[in-house]
Amino acid sequence: MKLRLAIQKSGRLHDDSMRLLKECGIDISNGVNKLKSEASNFPLEVFFLRDDDIPQYVEDAVADIGFVGENVVYEKKKKIDVVEKLGFGKCRLSIAISKGENYTSAAFLQGKRIATSYPVLVEDFLKANNITAEIHEISGSVEIAPGIGLADAICDLVSSGSTLFMNGLQEVEPILQSQAVLVKNEQLSPEQQAILDKLLFRIQSVKKAKNNKYVLLNAPNDKLDEIISLLPGMKSPTVLPLAEAGWSSVHSVLSETQFWDIIEKLKAAGAQGILVVPIEKMII
Ligand code: ATP
Ligand code: MG
Repeated sequence: MKLRLAIQKSGRLHDDSMRLLKECGIDISNGVNKLKSEASNFPLEVFFLRDDDIPQYVEDAVADIGFVGENVVYEKKKKIDVVEKLGFGKCRLSIAISKGENYTSAAFLQGKRIATSYPVLVEDFLKANNITAEIHEISGSVEIAPGIGLADAICDLVSSGSTLFMNGLQEVEPILQSQAVLVKNEQLSPEQQAILDKLLFRIQSVKKAKNNKYVLLNAPNDKLDEIISLLPGMKSPTVLPLAEAGWSSVHSVLSETQFWDIIEKLKAAGAQGILVVPIEKMII
């Protein structure tokens, strides 16, 4: 029994998908032009596909699970379950218009022509805002549409915004925040679900580790209570005596979000020699 996973064959999600599997301790050979590959140390078979096709394959149970962008999942509206956000492939689907124009609300789009590869999501957005506009579906290079007179606005994926900028466009309205997610077929067998649970456990451990840092610092013993009170830790911090009398070494785990804030407070409280170390896996 193997679980069949569909990932992007090549493109923006491919490398991060392969890296995540590797970080989960799953060995997959990535032969060029290969359609599928088997993990040597986990009951997993990987199919390499166009990202647009992944939702359909998962709905049809050709693949049991897939890694794919939320933008594609919600555009295709297939009957599949979104199980877990994967933390990579982050981007947004946004409306953009020519630089000189003035956009104050979605009403700007009334009666206009919008070029996009995401007609379903754009239609949803227009409906929610009570706007009628003409949607021109094009499959690529959407950003050139206004320049060649094909459209008044576009709706496309943006991460830095530099592609828009280079084409004389400005981003005016994000309509969807997206990242890669794990999707699954709605009817996995108990055996398949058990393999998925094992994989999810590993993915979650990798994600937690990425969001956390291991912190070691030296503290004078008379400041220990204050320093310990600043540290959340998984249970409570580890405190070990240093060779030098009157000093201790304190170890703890900090999340990325509170990191800088707490480091500043630790320094102010008298912590010295603060070391911050990445965590590879976090099993809790
Ligand atoms: P395929 O050949 O598999 O159909 P594609 O050209 O449709 O590939 P890519 O450009 O490789 O797709 O993008 C794949 C996914 O990467 C997107 O659907 C989106 O979820 C994500 N992504 C992240 N950042 C961006 C970005 N700046 N532009 C486009 N996609 C992005
Ligand atoms: Mg595609």
